Amino acid sequence: MRCPFCGSEDTQVKDSRPADDGAAIRRRRSCPSCGARFTTFERVTLRELTVVKSDQRRVPFDRDKLARSIRIALRKRPVDEDRIERIVNGIQRRLEAEGESEITSRAIGEMVMETLKELDQVAYVRFASVYRNFGEAGDFRAFLGSLDFGDGNKG
Ligand SMILES: [Zn+2]
Repeated sequence: MRCPFCGSEDTQVKDSRPADDGAAIRRRRSCPSCGARFTTFERVTLRELTVVKSDQRRVPFDRDKLARSIRIALRKRPVDEDRIERIVNGIQRRLEAEGESEITSRAIGEMVMETLKELDQVAYVRFASVYRNFGEAGDFRAFLGSLDFGDGNKG
């Protein structure tokens, strides 16, 4: 399993145990290269989903890729691995509940942004700026302006 932080191929399993009432295996891993610790879950895929990309290419839904992008957005934010795993599970269940075998990458991105916006605005901006791939600074400023930093905790 490649380290999601530094890309090293050489990560070690520290601990394995059942999760989700035996529906999954939870593995704690560590990366000797950068010192990162992360958790992986092995589970049965309930249904095969196809993602339709913006250029109309079709690729199989990749849960790990989804988890990776969320984990990168949340790096060094006060959100633990279990929480991240629940977020990914929640998004996957929503996708499965849509009842369609195909889903656009855009719809998935919007779902992730919606979730992160509730959870952590820093992670939300990180994810959104990559996902929306802002071509123009003006778009990005307009987007930042749409965020509500007016209330809630600042520290
Ligand atoms: Zn690493």
